[in-house]
Amino acid sequence: MKIQEADAKSLLVAQGLPVPPWEVAQTAAEARAAANRFLAAGGKQVVIKAQVLVGGRGKAGGVKLAGSAEEAERVAAAILALQIKGIAVHKVLVGPAADIVKEFYLAAVLDRASRRVILMGSAEGGVEIEQVAADRPEAIVTIPAHPLAGFLPFKARQMAFRLGLGDHLKDAVAIATGLVRTMHAYDADLVEINPLAVVREAGAAGAVSERLQCLDAKITLDDSALARHAGLEDLRDPDDEDPADRAAREAGLTFIKLDGTIGCMVNGAGLAMATMDLVKRAGGEPANFLDIGGGARADKVTAAMRLILADPKVDAILVNIFGGITRGDEVARGLIEARQQQERDVPMVVRIVGTNAEGAAVLLREARFETAATLDEAARRAVAASRGAPA
Ligand code: GDP
Ligand code: MN
Repeated sequence: MKIQEADAKSLLVAQGLPVPPWEVAQTAAEARAAANRFLAAGGKQVVIKAQVLVGGRGKAGGVKLAGSAEEAERVAAAILALQIKGIAVHKVLVGPAADIVKEFYLAAVLDRASRRVILMGSAEGGVEIEQVAADRPEAIVTIPAHPLAGFLPFKARQMAFRLGLGDHLKDAVAIATGLVRTMHAYDADLVEINPLAVVREAGAAGAVSERLQCLDAKITLDDSALARHAGLEDLRDPDDEDPADRAAREAGLTFIKLDGTIGCMVNGAGLAMATMDLVKRAGGEPANFLDIGGGARADKVTAAMRLILADPKVDAILVNIFGGITRGDEVARGLIEARQQQERDVPMVVRIVGTNAEGAAVLLREARFETAATLDEAARRAVAASRGAPA
């Protein structure tokens, strides 16, 4: 799950990392009021940033500076009217503009190949890291964290020196170890700061000093670990999720869309995979993986059917239920209800065995469903039906 920059920054602040202050505004007037507060606190400019879950906001016109509250209002209105990579901007972050000396890239990343958290850094920050990785891979420094001890200070110092951050060693070490700590604290897959910036700050009596600050933050969380952290689910952004994925999650279904034409509704992950194999063996291509889970009742079956039929490529459906906790007659009731509601009629072959299979058979016969006795037969007929033969 991706979270917005402002939320990611809150997690960083909670871990003690240096992030400039900010407010989130939903209207230009709110942005103006926030800008007023930051300018009154002594800043010369404010930065206004679109809160959308895509990178490259700067290039797309979603990050702008403003020198007055009026300008902030105008800029915010313009950003709030933007669509960035197809996503409408609903909120902006407003904060004091940093006086940037140099931009770096620093991220804690879950590296699946080495099965470790690694810290990746580059002195070429601000730009897209994928570009740096493609053009000049040597400009990226990678140091693995220890699986148990975390990211030790000596490694953080190594990273700092290799990025040329020797003058900001203390800050750099705190940030590097803090990123890995943040990663573990919230079960994140990625904690990315781009740019991590050396910023100039005016102190008392005109004194100028430099320090490191996290100016941007991108965090992705492991969906499977969300249950371990109170409050993180609330950070979910509805724009982040594909509508089908959301419907599946809300209905408690495991659904993965594929490229084929045969919709599959199965109970149990193993059976769902076996069903997909048989569809392939019969010469078809599954349109999805769908596990309605154990003990699924009629409403879950209707939700599953809606998901399958929402895919316009689906031209035949194979229902394969092996009743244990799941009761065949419940599934049959769900199928009948779903067919009454559905707008699109697609040939369907149903195979239900196990608990209450007899009850299911009676219901399905009465409702004139096509049933099959074996899975092989069901797969074969579903594939034939998708090619135009009667189910
Ligand atoms: P992204 O384009 O979505 O990654 O958004 P960023 O927050 O990284 O901003 C893009 C770029 O805008 C940064 O690399 C900076 O060059 C610039 N920028 C962001 N915040 C500030 C700021 O406070 N002051 C200044 N001067 N530039 C900023
Ligand atoms: Mn950035």
